[in-house]
Amino acid sequence: MNTRLNTHASEQIARSLKSVWHPCTQMQHHETVPLVPVARGRGAWLYDVDGNRYLDAISSWWVNLFGHANPRINAALKEQLDTLEHAMLAGFTHEPVIALSEQLSARTNHVLGHCFYASDGASATEIALKMSFHYWRNTGRSDKREFVCLKGSYHGETVGALAVTDVQLFRDAYGPMLQQAHVVASPDARDTRDGETPADVARRAAKEFEALLQQRSDRIAAIIVEPLVQCAAGMAMYDPVYLKEVRALCDRFDVHLIADEIAVGCGRTGTFFACEQARIWPDFVCLSKGISGGYLPLSLVMTRDAIYEAFYDADVRRGFLHSHSYTGNPLACRAALATLAIFNEDDVLSRNRGRAARITEALSPLAAHPKVKHFRQRGMIWAFDAQIDDAAAAATFSRRFFTEALKNELLLRPIGRTVYLMPPYILDDEEIAGLAARTLAVFDKVIGEK
Ligand SMILES: *Cc1c(COP(=O)(O)O)cnc(C)c1O
Repeated sequence: MNTRLNTHASEQIARSLKSVWHPCTQMQHHETVPLVPVARGRGAWLYDVDGNRYLDAISSWWVNLFGHANPRINAALKEQLDTLEHAMLAGFTHEPVIALSEQLSARTNHVLGHCFYASDGASATEIALKMSFHYWRNTGRSDKREFVCLKGSYHGETVGALAVTDVQLFRDAYGPMLQQAHVVASPDARDTRDGETPADVARRAAKEFEALLQQRSDRIAAIIVEPLVQCAAGMAMYDPVYLKEVRALCDRFDVHLIADEIAVGCGRTGTFFACEQARIWPDFVCLSKGISGGYLPLSLVMTRDAIYEAFYDADVRRGFLHSHSYTGNPLACRAALATLAIFNEDDVLSRNRGRAARITEALSPLAAHPKVKHFRQRGMIWAFDAQIDDAAAAATFSRRFFTEALKNELLLRPIGRTVYLMPPYILDDEEIAGLAARTLAVFDKVIGEK
């Protein structure tokens, strides 16, 4: 069958709205919010079927690290495609999955030397929760089966992951389907009280976790955190001392620490793993999103020897009981290997430091804007909160901003009143200047509307 060429935008939109149920979308909003029919991508830009372009300033939901149609990742994938597209990972193995596991393990100095694979982030969360639960069972402590998450946490939207996701909208809709988790204070640096530093807020939040452990550590399997930035909560950034304190508490009370680095990993916060900034290693790291360069669905959970060994036995029932059809897909692993090669060859982490400083400088008019609160940055993430007093205007801010941004050649999608930038690691000076000027223009326009 021939794919249709030069389909007109409005026709494609109509066909999509008729047959495609879009994610994270109240479909009726598309009566006013535009749906963009994308035709192709190149570098930081997406082009629609009419030839309009949009700077992908949120890396297509935080996944794209080195631009669209990246020549190096494309070449690796084309070669892999002609070699091995897929083989099951039970009873079989292949070079891409081996090399990827070795390279990631090396990035933790082999502390987290065992990689378990899946396809999406939520599945990685589920795997970490199940592994922790099953570890305690295998070691004779099956009472330890409760989980702890932070206020405003987000770990994915499948039923197990939703149980440790503290988003009111989801709780209201799906709460009755879910397991109960303990929700403890977030170390969000915006919550400073008089005279407090962000480190004080972090210590205060850790104290609340400690109080819970003192009561119930016999029942608790693990705490799951998004290290340094709670992204979906609206880019809530916090001091690394929180991770240090939580690590110490987990050691003291025999509880696992799960670091969900699905959004903050792969260099997003300045180091390859966000946990490196606290100089700690968790018991489990979840990776997804950027790991395949934004090309293919891939997720994984890394863990320690001691946890791996608790499953190593002749008895099938003591093994880790989990699989997905596409576990360790060679194409996805090859995209990840090409992504890691770019990190090495281009010295990405250190070049991003210069790039981040230039972006922060370019955004200084927004940081000083009278309607901007809590301008913040970590690594390659920038965020600020719009000061809007009118409740009705606040409720539609995100959609109005998205629509206005498109008119200014920008893809930006605020979370509530929080505007954030999470661009790919490739913007040049001209793109940085354009991004900053247009973000300011869009903000001024939208904040001035009634
Ligand atoms: C996106 C995200 C997930 C879920 O990943 P999916 O691939 O969307 O299932 C989990 N945790 C965090 C921190 C995320 O940002």
